[in-house]
Amino acid sequence: MSMYNNNERISARGYAVFSKTDTFKPFDFTRHPVGDHDVLIEILYAGICHSDIHSARSEWKDGIYPMVPGHEIAGRIVAVGSKVSKFKVGDLAGVGCMVNSCGECEACKRSQEQFCERGQTVFTYDCKDCFHNDEPTYGGYSNNIVVSERFAIKVPDGAPLDKVAPLLCAGITTYSPLKFSGVKKGSRVGVAGFGGLGMMAVKYAVQMGAEVSVFARNENKKEDAIKMGVKHFFTSTQNVKERFDLIISTIPSGYDPMKYVNLLVYGGEFAIVGLPPRDQNPMINLTELVWGAGRKVYGSLIGGIKETQEMLDFSLEHKIYPETEIISANQIDEAYEKLTTGRAKFRYVIDMKTL
Ligand code: NDP
Ligand code: ZN
Repeated sequence: MSMYNNNERISARGYAVFSKTDTFKPFDFTRHPVGDHDVLIEILYAGICHSDIHSARSEWKDGIYPMVPGHEIAGRIVAVGSKVSKFKVGDLAGVGCMVNSCGECEACKRSQEQFCERGQTVFTYDCKDCFHNDEPTYGGYSNNIVVSERFAIKVPDGAPLDKVAPLLCAGITTYSPLKFSGVKKGSRVGVAGFGGLGMMAVKYAVQMGAEVSVFARNENKKEDAIKMGVKHFFTSTQNVKERFDLIISTIPSGYDPMKYVNLLVYGGEFAIVGLPPRDQNPMINLTELVWGAGRKVYGSLIGGIKETQEMLDFSLEHKIYPETEIISANQIDEAYEKLTTGRAKFRYVIDMKTL
């Protein structure tokens, strides 16, 4: 029995924005008590995903404020509920984009909790928690989090937590479509958008034996790509002679998807994970799609908990880690600025000791 397991709310401290145009400020709040099946995690590192920026700025939908973003969380278990069996105090753990779901519908039963058929997927932040009186969820830019043990990912002792954090979203979001599309040795894979997600897509595809190409906007990160094992680095889709079995788009702003679809082989697949703002929503041109028939287009949303654990184990086994830059909590605004003006490299990770 832990000292927290007494129906008392948990005090937390994080960084929040109070409106879509705000800058980050320290924010004290509370989290729901550690329930029988919950764990309390002390957050040590949190990655900054471009989704955090879209959300904080209400680019997809009107956000819930104050908002504490962050869904790439790595830390240590500091308390467990009385019925928790998966973790003990002191274990390392990760949390991604979800913290709860019904657990009983067909989607939850096949561990695709992000598609809970009862609409009860509770996202890590900017969401109403239907299991806790609809209180708003607060994410990883904070010192702790309480989640159902089913949604905490096991991280082995000794794993580098600053590198583990970004795997919980950037890792799973790119691993999942690569598996879904059956990438194997010799597959020709293109990755459009070479930031946090793009880098992970490249690393996994290379590990799976694919011949990998990158589509970026300029040559700034060409050297990095080559070091990662990329074969071709394009700064435009024009005059590209290569054809692809799979192209994954991680592009976070408006673009023409057909420029990529038209580079696929017959039967090739275009997997969309990048989620541009609602006022820049790209459109698939149906006429072009039909005349260039035989190409498949699909969207992909993170990955289920079972697959997230599989991704984490795969990453650690093959030492596939993100390129990261560790920042302090008072540098979040600066990181957002760099990520939206083409001055970021790959992933920023907040060191929670600096909170
Ligand atoms: P980053 O900002 O780290 O990376 C985006 C990259 O795309 C940057 O390198 C950027 O280049 C590049 N880019 C922008 N526009 C273009 C373009 N027209 N052509 C080619 N490259 C371009 O973002 P993340 O990787 O964190 O996230 C990417 C997207 O994926 C976001 O929209 C995010 O919300 C979404 N996402 C979706 C998930 C899902 O489940 N489907 C989960 C997680 C994220 P530059 O540096 O020049 O700006
Ligand atoms: Zn994310």
